[in-house]
Amino acid sequence: AELQLGEATALHEVEKKELQEYYEKALGKMDCKDQEDAMKRMKVEESRTMLESSIRVVAGELFDVRQQHDKLKEEARSLQALLLGEEMKQLEQAICGQIGSLCGRMEEEKEEASERLKKEITERRRLHNLVQELRGNIRVFCRIRPLSQRNLQDGAQSVVSFPSETELLLDNGGKYQSFQFDRVFDPSSTQEQVFTETQPLVVSVMDGFNVCIFAYGQTGSGKTFTMQGYNQDGGVNTRALQELFQVVEQRAGMYEYEIKMSLLEIYNENIRDLIQPKDDNGEEKKLDVKIAPEGGTCVPGMSITPVNSMDDVLDLLATGESNRSVGRTNMNEHSSRSHMILSIFASSVNVMTGGRAHGKLHLIDLAG
Ligand code: ADP
Ligand code: MG
Repeated sequence: AELQLGEATALHEVEKKELQEYYEKALGKMDCKDQEDAMKRMKVEESRTMLESSIRVVAGELFDVRQQHDKLKEEARSLQALLLGEEMKQLEQAICGQIGSLCGRMEEEKEEASERLKKEITERRRLHNLVQELRGNIRVFCRIRPLSQRNLQDGAQSVVSFPSETELLLDNGGKYQSFQFDRVFDPSSTQEQVFTETQPLVVSVMDGFNVCIFAYGQTGSGKTFTMQGYNQDGGVNTRALQELFQVVEQRAGMYEYEIKMSLLEIYNENIRDLIQPKDDNGEEKKLDVKIAPEGGTCVPGMSITPVNSMDDVLDLLATGESNRSVGRTNMNEHSSRSHMILSIFASSVNVMTGGRAHGKLHLIDLAG
């Protein structure tokens, strides 16, 4: 535009000069009237060229302004994009900040809730064990088995009735005798119902209490049925062990447990280790009941095997069963002289406090 303006001005100057020379020459040959006209025309001509050059200048400037406008528009656009990017960044930062503080708050709340839960669990455990003590440290349940095929063939008839959950009524030839128990299970009771009554005691073992459950009665009365169970319908033994492993799972993260198991048979006053009957020399172990230094009784030399799952337990029970059956000819004769003692040792560590507890559970199928 500047170049154009310069050219226009130069051109204008040249034209002006040429015109002036021409008019001056012409003026000399003209009369007054013509001179005046010529002067007027010269003036008009002069202002026309001036106008033309001004237009050229303005056009040049306009071109400039247009270019500047485009440039500014471009700048505005990139500035807008920049601002938008900046805004987005700020927004993102603000959101991140908010999420961060929200997470912090959630973490705090989670910790509070887990604190509360731990307290509740401790309190629930305390109350549970208190209830067990209040219900009696020694409880006697009575289970009546159904009449067997043999009993029925022999023409036997039931002489017991069950007026309530805690009473057994015996018809002794028209003379009624009432017996009270903590709980009476009639012949229709299931293995599960019987276990339900003992289940809370099993939970106490996991809190460091010692529990002993034994079946007592004459041969054929249903002790082994109740404790071991038959086939798939497990008795108190397997159900109790299942319960222990469930407690371990439920309390994971709060308590760490170590569970061990032993299996003994007392046959004709001889103690036999059913899991490892022989010592390192291949001789049958000679075991004895002794008073433990820390109180209570113990059987030195008895094998105590860690168990981590029900499968481990079932394997050991099968081993025990096979070790028991050696030389066994008459089932009835054998079981009427044989006590079976399944013992569980549960040690726990409270993850929070480091407190330790040791509970024992003895499950005993007595001789007849
Ligand atoms: P014990 O161990 O006291 O000598 P068992 O548990 O071996 O007696 O039971 C003797 C028989 O009676 C077994 O054949 C067993 O299956 C059966 N029996 C015992 N209790 C029940 C019960 N509650 N329901 C059904 N059958 C039972
Ligand atoms: Mg038996």
